[in-house]
Amino acid sequence: MLREFIELLGIPNVASDAANIRRNAEHIVGMLQRRGIDARLLETDGSPPAVYGELSAPGAGFTLMIYVHYDGQPVQPGKWASEPWTPVLRDGRLEDGAGLVELEDIEAALDPDWRVYARSAGDDKAPIVAIAHALDALAAADIRRAVNLKFFFEGEEEAGSPHLASMLQRHAELLAADLWLFCDGPRHQSGRPQLAFGVRGVSGLDITVFGPANAVHSGHYGNWAPNPAAMLVHLLAGMRSPEGRIQIDGFYEDVVSPTPAERAAIEAAPSVDAALVDELALGHTEGGGQRLEERLLEPALNIKGLRAGAVGEAAANAIPVSATASVGLRLVPDLTPKKARELVDAHIRAQGYYIVSDLPDPKTLRAHARVAQVSWSDSGYPAVRTIMDSPGAKALIAVMREAVGEELILMPTMGGSLPLYHIRERLDAPVVILPVANHDNNQHAANENLRLGNLFEAVEIYAAVIAGFTEP
Ligand SMILES: [Zn+2]
Repeated sequence: MLREFIELLGIPNVASDAANIRRNAEHIVGMLQRRGIDARLLETDGSPPAVYGELSAPGAGFTLMIYVHYDGQPVQPGKWASEPWTPVLRDGRLEDGAGLVELEDIEAALDPDWRVYARSAGDDKAPIVAIAHALDALAAADIRRAVNLKFFFEGEEEAGSPHLASMLQRHAELLAADLWLFCDGPRHQSGRPQLAFGVRGVSGLDITVFGPANAVHSGHYGNWAPNPAAMLVHLLAGMRSPEGRIQIDGFYEDVVSPTPAERAAIEAAPSVDAALVDELALGHTEGGGQRLEERLLEPALNIKGLRAGAVGEAAANAIPVSATASVGLRLVPDLTPKKARELVDAHIRAQGYYIVSDLPDPKTLRAHARVAQVSWSDSGYPAVRTIMDSPGAKALIAVMREAVGEELILMPTMGGSLPLYHIRERLDAPVVILPVANHDNNQHAANENLRLGNLFEAVEIYAAVIAGFTEP
């Protein structure tokens, strides 16, 4: 299993690298076909291939779709301790000074705390190998599968899934399933196994506001010529309170109270707040003491970055010509990116700004007291939350409980975003997220890794679900 994992991790997999992406996809088709799965590539106009596979179980009336993505984030090789696509095994965490282990030297059993370091070890190639070996194990033990399986492995998730909607639409019949199991993301910070029933939506914008046409002396003109940095700070401060409450009209219209099942799930999960507060050296948290999981049920407005003039030794005694902020939004179900955009734009206008989409010319700047150039991201998508006490979800929770016991953590939503919306929208299928990676897998960053114990447990969990799922 480890060798097969290392082999797969050795193929570079940035979504824009078309040749290598195809090598990954063909390699995975081979892995599936060796297990008797009817596997092939699916394509749609201009997309990288997705890997599709089918494995039916005699007499089963329920079809479980397994989603994984095989592409990974771009890398900055200089920041890695080893080459991103030359996987290495270490006897622990790099941060704790773990050393290299040579595969040839291994004589005893693999230590579950050892880690494989490579791009996509944690995000998101591990489930591909774990599922393959769960199937091998079931076959070797002659245990029958309780559900029909389908597989859909995407090749451009880290690039924002630009073709996922058209892919799902074009192949809707093939991709029909009773439940989508979305195998991506890290497990709970406590290390315990987890199911998550939703994700927040995502959107974002850049706002630029304008001062004088050229930078002017801050003594000769200060407090007469409008200062764009100060204007932007006022505008942003009006958008969110110090506690993180969004002060844009209408932003909480679509926030619904947690259901009893969701509330019970949060209460039953171990709180990670104290450990995170310590790890991140936080003197306070936003939200007046509410725990993290509760905060994730609400929308968030984050200032990702600010740019105006310069600071420190580079600071000039001048009023800058413009100031820009990048703002990120995390959304709840029914607060679509389109609706969020309307609310934010209305808020900016209500502060006296004339909104333009392109860089305004002097004529436009003279004609309006305040001008804001607003550019919205076009890669956002809405949130999704699957009802925790729906029949499919309950059946999945039951089989997972049987496999891992009371350790199982249920989360109404993850804080981050995944393109589940397209699946619900195009295929009308419920989606549940089953993450397998350790939370400290350095996903999207240098020295991405997977703890071997997480890979082993993923095999057990997939095998239990495939063999034990009871049709609701
Ligand atoms: Zn991922």
